[in-house]
Amino acid sequence: MDEPKFRAAQIWAWLWRQGSQNFSEMTNVSKEFRTRLAETWTIAWPKVHTLQESVDGTVKFLLRFDDDALVETVLIPEGDRYTQCLSTQVGCAMGCTFCSTGAMGFMRNMTGGEIAMQVLVTRDFLLGRDQGQRLTNLVFMGMGEPLMNWPEVKRAMAILHSEHGLSFSRRKITLSTCGIQKGLLEFAKQGLALPAISLHAPTQELRSKIMPKAARLPLDELMDILEHYPLQSRERVTIEYLLLGGVNDSLDHARALVKLLSRLKCKVNLIAFNPGPGIPYKSPTQEAVLAFEKLLWDKGMTCTLRKSKGQDIAAACGQLRAQTTDSG
Ligand code: SF4
Repeated sequence: MDEPKFRAAQIWAWLWRQGSQNFSEMTNVSKEFRTRLAETWTIAWPKVHTLQESVDGTVKFLLRFDDDALVETVLIPEGDRYTQCLSTQVGCAMGCTFCSTGAMGFMRNMTGGEIAMQVLVTRDFLLGRDQGQRLTNLVFMGMGEPLMNWPEVKRAMAILHSEHGLSFSRRKITLSTCGIQKGLLEFAKQGLALPAISLHAPTQELRSKIMPKAARLPLDELMDILEHYPLQSRERVTIEYLLLGGVNDSLDHARALVKLLSRLKCKVNLIAFNPGPGIPYKSPTQEAVLAFEKLLWDKGMTCTLRKSKGQDIAAACGQLRAQTTDSG
């Protein structure tokens, strides 16, 4: 727009630091230029279609973009801070059999701006509440497979990292993927966030059944990539393992998992499955979960049992499916 370069930095700060939704607020640029901006561009914040709050404090936002695309993002409370779970695609093409988003199918990729704007919406919400809770961590674990939309996810990360904007450091951002070979190698090289792998099965055979598309990257090749993953000191790859009742939750599965992960610098996050409509699995029993966890600890693995939050509002892992109340 034939303006000096520093003007871009000014506008960037208004958009991403101040969260301006209107060019007229940008008072350190001339009125004439503000008018030209408003004639040329729109600031397309998504609308909050529905907001649901769980008894445990989890808040789920159903966002609607200008083309009526719907995505969900979730704020998860931990003490006086929040972690936000971000979506990267409208729906998902990976079709993991335990996942409500996968059951929706794929609609479209989100743009880098749309991905990052989820943070502006929740930050605005938290400012409005003024209860002193801060948004400190981000996880790319919502709707979509981030590495199937890597160019836009990378753009979003640049926005999130920018010191002129939201200023999230690499250590505060985790990207969860089921393992897309090309994207994973590229993501590892860029080092923009910490990696989490949705593994969910300790053998290629079982993984092919429950995550058929993800399993196109054979487990041994996935392990090779993770073994050589460039990590800084004290960093580890997070392995996500969703316990599905009677499917992958036996002690034999736990032993196979220990063997599979033995060459990795990793920690394991166990998550008990949350049943969802139309999803053909059941929750594991409490005994099975505890026995699985104990075996991993006994074999020297670092492992956490992640408390599932927001179950009552379908905001827990694998439950996001951008459903409006009017569509039922
Ligand atoms: S688990 Fe992730 S990759 Fe698999 S279908 Fe669901 S959103 Fe897609």
